[in-house]
Amino acid sequence: MALSGIQIYKLLPHTNCKECGFPTCLAFAMKLAAKQVELSACPYVSEESKKQLAESAAPPVRLISLKANGTEVKAGNEVVMFRHEKTFYNKPGLFVRVKASDADISRKVAEADAYTVNYVGMDFTIDGFAVEADGDASTSSAQSLGAAVKTVRSISKRPLILIGDPATLPAGLEACSGEAPMIYAADNSNWEAMAELAAKYKAALVVKGESLEELAELTQKIQAKGVEDMVLDLGGKNMGEWLSRSTQVRRLALKANFRALGYPVIAFPGNVGDPARESVYAAQAIAKYAGFVVLDTFAPELAYALLVLRENIYTDPQKPIQVLPGIYEINNPTADSPALVTTNFSITYFSVANEVEGSGQPAWLIVTDAEGMSVLTAWAAGKFDAERIAKAVKEFDLASKISKKRIVLPGHVAVLSGELEEELPDWEIRVGPREAVDLPAFMKQAL
Ligand code: SF4
Repeated sequence: MALSGIQIYKLLPHTNCKECGFPTCLAFAMKLAAKQVELSACPYVSEESKKQLAESAAPPVRLISLKANGTEVKAGNEVVMFRHEKTFYNKPGLFVRVKASDADISRKVAEADAYTVNYVGMDFTIDGFAVEADGDASTSSAQSLGAAVKTVRSISKRPLILIGDPATLPAGLEACSGEAPMIYAADNSNWEAMAELAAKYKAALVVKGESLEELAELTQKIQAKGVEDMVLDLGGKNMGEWLSRSTQVRRLALKANFRALGYPVIAFPGNVGDPARESVYAAQAIAKYAGFVVLDTFAPELAYALLVLRENIYTDPQKPIQVLPGIYEINNPTADSPALVTTNFSITYFSVANEVEGSGQPAWLIVTDAEGMSVLTAWAAGKFDAERIAKAVKEFDLASKISKKRIVLPGHVAVLSGELEEELPDWEIRVGPREAVDLPAFMKQAL
């Protein structure tokens, strides 16, 4: 049975030396109990304690990290089946697959690599590329993979997954030596050679099996060869089977502490052979429980939807996405521009800011600290009231920026206007529309 943080703490040295990266042994013990760190981070644990801590010593889903040129993609270290139980930690890496034989590889990589999109104040990009060798194990295929990796490297610094066999992969691995890539894939026919390659080049290794039993046997054999960083390709005839296997793997790792399947999972949505369904499969993989998703199709509209979905699933439900409280300037406001009030929940902020910005009308936007809640939720929770709004108006010194002391409340909290008049007696309090989309018309007609 897993040990509690206090039980683990009793087995640690109690010196609080901080070498593990945590301020105290107790803090480290709590992280260990939550399976968020590995015991090896503390160099001073006695051999006897190590034995007792074996159960709690490793996260149930191993952390796999791909690195290249200062960029990193991490998967694993997850501790719950469902996001609402706690949170999911490491967002699945989105990779785009290109083929070594593709004459258009430079254009495809450049387009995907340059893609960036801003969503509620955050910049999203894809995470890396999967470079696939030609289908045979010939010398020319190996050379072609090596050349393709060099081409990708001349355009992108993002981490790589190399797809090939024991004959072709060394050329690709040499072309990105010094990085921490992933290689695909070890199966029953080649696992020894693939394990040797993974060990030699310090690459993570994808393991592929026809069933979970076969996968578990393979990972144990490969681990016995000294390779620890593995990722599972679950196969499956269709989306339903893949989902079932992915859920079983997560459940076995978390609930049964079954180490042989305690690795992140990789998904290839393009393998369904239907571009129209690739997005659906990718969305499923992001939700349940892929650590790496390799797309055959790169299109901005697909990437945007998947990146936003990923962000929403991997946002800690206890920590809403927030913007900093303060006064935001929209469309170069002057002293005559109106002042609008809202909360610091990102989606609320951007809904209001985007509508005003799109209207071309200048405004001051006072963002109050509502602990990341939307207007109505914050009001119901007592986090967006007259006192807080008045405090923000004074703290950010709104009066010094505008000529007329007037602020506009969101229509949903019109009920606050009386109290706010008491808090800000020399200010005019106006009630705006309930929905952000109606702000431009309101500003034009009523302010
Ligand atoms: S490295 Fe070990 S002894 Fe030092 S603070 Fe961390 S847990 Fe305690």
